[in-house]
Amino acid sequence: MTRTGFYPGSFDPVTFGHMDIIARSARFLDALVLGVGVHHGKTPFLPTDVRLRLLDDACEPVRTATGCRISIVTFDGLAVNAARDAGAGVIVRGLRDASDFDYEVQMGQMNAGLAPDMETVFLAASPATRMIASSLVKQIAKMGGDISPFVPEAVNAAVLKALKS
Ligand code: ADP
Repeated sequence: MTRTGFYPGSFDPVTFGHMDIIARSARFLDALVLGVGVHHGKTPFLPTDVRLRLLDDACEPVRTATGCRISIVTFDGLAVNAARDAGAGVIVRGLRDASDFDYEVQMGQMNAGLAPDMETVFLAASPATRMIASSLVKQIAKMGGDISPFVPEAVNAAVLKALKS
């Protein structure tokens, strides 16, 4: 049986926090589909094609290290539907703190109501990356701060480029 997971998020931009969750779930999944949310009416900081490319590049070492088949899709509806379309039986989410816990568990339980066959697996953030949030990365970059401790080098470059354009 192939164990396939679906990890949905905005990834705007992808951070070392997301990569921690991706690398750790890749160790126990045969395949992992990353779902990049594209919400109509909501303009992301980085365009969708850039978010997809950055994620794909960042995942390359994880693919090599784990053998997990990691692919990336966009989705604009319910995560449970996107997960099902991806052939996944598990939704992966990360938990940083109590507010993530409250929100994520509620969402996981509502998703279970929508799709009883879909299990949500929560991974507690690793100590080294649990403080990282995409929203703060963007704020720091906009104020001229160095985001290199929080994101892969290519993401750093893409964020700086987006701020200049
Ligand atoms: P969303 O807009 O759905 O919150 P994000 O890209 O911000 O999308 O986050 C997607 C998932 O990644 C969420 O489960 C979130 O809790 C998790 N996540 C984000 N940052 C971290 C981090 N630093 N450590 C662990 N999990 C994280």
